[in-house]
Amino acid sequence: MAETRHTSVLIIGSGPAGYTAGVYASRAMLSPILVQGIEPGGQLTTTTEVENWPGLTEVQGPDLMIQMEAHAKAMGCEIIGDIIMSLDTTARPFTAIGDSGTIYTADAVILATGARAKWLGLPSEDAYKGFGVSACATCDGFFYRGQEIVVIGGGNTAVEEALFLTNFASKVTLIHRRDELRAEKILIDRLMKNPKIEPLWFHQLDEVVGEDNPKGVTAVRVKHVKTGEITEIPCKGVFVAIGHAPANELVKDVLELHNGGYVTVKPGSTETSIPGIFAAGDLTDHKYRQAVTSAGMGCMAALDAERFIAENAV
Ligand code: FAD
Ligand code: NAP
Repeated sequence: MAETRHTSVLIIGSGPAGYTAGVYASRAMLSPILVQGIEPGGQLTTTTEVENWPGLTEVQGPDLMIQMEAHAKAMGCEIIGDIIMSLDTTARPFTAIGDSGTIYTADAVILATGARAKWLGLPSEDAYKGFGVSACATCDGFFYRGQEIVVIGGGNTAVEEALFLTNFASKVTLIHRRDELRAEKILIDRLMKNPKIEPLWFHQLDEVVGEDNPKGVTAVRVKHVKTGEITEIPCKGVFVAIGHAPANELVKDVLELHNGGYVTVKPGSTETSIPGIFAAGDLTDHKYRQAVTSAGMGCMAALDAERFIAENAV
């Protein structure tokens, strides 16, 4: 029979927002349960150096997330390796069902499900996912030792991935649809100075070209956004780094959303359109999307949930 667990505060997600909410809710003696989801530690586990977490000049993303998990646990947060498959927000206590079959009931819920990598949506991109097409350089870069690689995108992720991939690749072509990068200046500076990286401006990926036996990528066809001219670039790896979309599947039909799917919160708070449901981190933030801002919102969500529980005690 399915196990039912009741908690005052259910935290869904284990990125900086979720773990910080775990620390604060534990210290408020709310005995929170945190469900980690498919990516324990969240997006920072897919990167290497993090250089903008205050107090640490440089830390590896996965190490930082292990420390955050340990911190939340040490404060008393119960951390569970499960994935929430559905969330009923129509009645209190709220009910969430885990992939494990466990039923979680909670007086308040903190949504900290973050964001997931976006894809271009090309059939050829889909066909070669896992066979040369990737959205995670730290996960897959090692397979391209001595090979030519392309990276698509012009933000922080694309530039960091291009830089990281030069540790393995013989050449990295950064393909961007404009001639201006939106990445931080310090990263652009490193990119421009790296002799292994060649930017290709005003181009879009048109098709991933590959072979089936063995299955793998051999080239990309890229299109000039102004002239339409197609060029073929030989490569073994294609890293798509065109941003992230909020992971709103659990609540997209019940909560107010903004900017294409981010959960709306009241200004200066983490309250969503349903009392008792709070949202923090990249799930709600289309603008800043940083580890430190997510952690800050995780703190706010725990404090908001604490107040909500105190005011709505039965
Ligand atoms: P996320 O980190 O996205 O975590 C979401 C969590 O929700 C995951 O644990 C996931 O398993 C869980 N989840 C999702 N759905 C469910 C479900 N149904 N049930 C249970 N759990 C669920 N920011 C910086 O400040 N500095 C950097 O150097 C930096 N580098 C980055 C490098 C890369 C490659 C990327 C992709 C991002 C980087 N960022 C960086 C941005 C930063 O990682 C994010 O802003 C931050 O991780 C967002 O935190 P979060 O807690 O909102 O969500
Ligand atoms: P992003 O900042 O949204 O950048 C996405 C890039 O992909 C943009 O250059 C965009 O082009 C391009 N793009 C989007 N859709 C495209 C399409 N269909 N075809 C071709 N190109 C497309 O995303 P991100 O780089 O993943 O960063 C996400 C957040 O995480 C940001 O807030 C970022 O600061 C943060 N982050 C921080 C760090 C760090 O602090 N070191 C590292 C990584 C990420 P345009 O520029 O033309 O729009």
